[in-house]
Amino acid sequence: MKQYNFNAGPSILPQEVIKQTADAVIDFEGHGLSILEISHRAKYFQPVMDEAEALMKELLNIPDGYRVIFLGGGASLQFCMLPYNLLEHKAAYLNTGVWAKKALKEAKAFGEAVEVASSADANYTFIPTDYEIPQDADYFHVTTNNTIYGTELSDEKLQQIYDKLGKVTLVADMSSDILSRPIDVSKYGIIYGGAQKNLAPAGVTFVIVREDLLGKVSRHIPTMLDYRTHIEGGSMFNTPPVLPVYTAVLTLRWLKNLGGLEAIEKRNIAKAELLYKAIDESKMFVGTAKKEDRSRMNVPFVLKEEYKELEAEFLKFAADHGMVGVKGHRSVGGFRASIYNAMDLEGVQALVDCMKEFEALHA
Ligand code: PMP
Repeated sequence: MKQYNFNAGPSILPQEVIKQTADAVIDFEGHGLSILEISHRAKYFQPVMDEAEALMKELLNIPDGYRVIFLGGGASLQFCMLPYNLLEHKAAYLNTGVWAKKALKEAKAFGEAVEVASSADANYTFIPTDYEIPQDADYFHVTTNNTIYGTELSDEKLQQIYDKLGKVTLVADMSSDILSRPIDVSKYGIIYGGAQKNLAPAGVTFVIVREDLLGKVSRHIPTMLDYRTHIEGGSMFNTPPVLPVYTAVLTLRWLKNLGGLEAIEKRNIAKAELLYKAIDESKMFVGTAKKEDRSRMNVPFVLKEEYKELEAEFLKFAADHGMVGVKGHRSVGGFRASIYNAMDLEGVQALVDCMKEFEALHA
């Protein structure tokens, strides 16, 4: 039976990208060697790294003055690397979920790190707007999409942030919505994320960094944690995650062929509308995130109180219908469908049909 992959990450990748990666594991672009065994210093790999940076710049319309680097360590290492490189006196954080909170916790080791607002008391079901950004902060950090809670900074809320930034540098964790819509990169100093949602298999982290921000802090930065090391080394100061970077290139080519970020955004809107409409019309299911902050990437929903005892049964029913990874995160409960770029409308329709069928049997 066809399996529909709604995992939150590592997560669905385009079928053709998986197939091309598999081909390269056997024979990398006709060189007679596997991608797994080539040297990153070999003549074959430099063009891959160059293309990865070039396609990120092209698709995200990244202005001059920025570099894109590919590192190990996940988004979690960026929670520490960011303040290491940027925090001299003070940083400000918007606490919209556990990942945001973890980022804030790391910053506290480097200087004053303030939480400007938090929705923790409401189990992060919405994104706060009632706060000021301290103008003496070295940067202001946001998580644009909260993978666990299914909230996302809409274009409107992003604009509100741009409007109140003043002179403060904006930094964003875009792990779970990078490349899902056009974004004005010029508003950001740094954008980072683990690639294992919209870009590549686990093992590579992307960092988009405005070069003029670096070299300003007074502390010593260990070589491997200094962004400048990886910029100067062209992401090859040490051995890069060769296979995930290659798959990232394949995903970026796929995205470009599809029409780029405007095209994928349209598709993502259609998918999200389809699923949220089904949830809102359901007698049985209900969404957990505040409507205006709903994510287009992660859709958490639960059973209404009177149907709560059917949770395990729905999970089994969904699994029997080929729905993979719909169990909700433990801190929200219920269900979560992650509908990243590679999920198509047909997959979302299959989930909606499955929910309706279950409802017809039980409600
Ligand atoms: N930030 C966000 C928004 C995430 O969703 C995740 C992981 N799901 C992380 C950070 C942590 O990423 P990593 O596992 O790559 O460290």
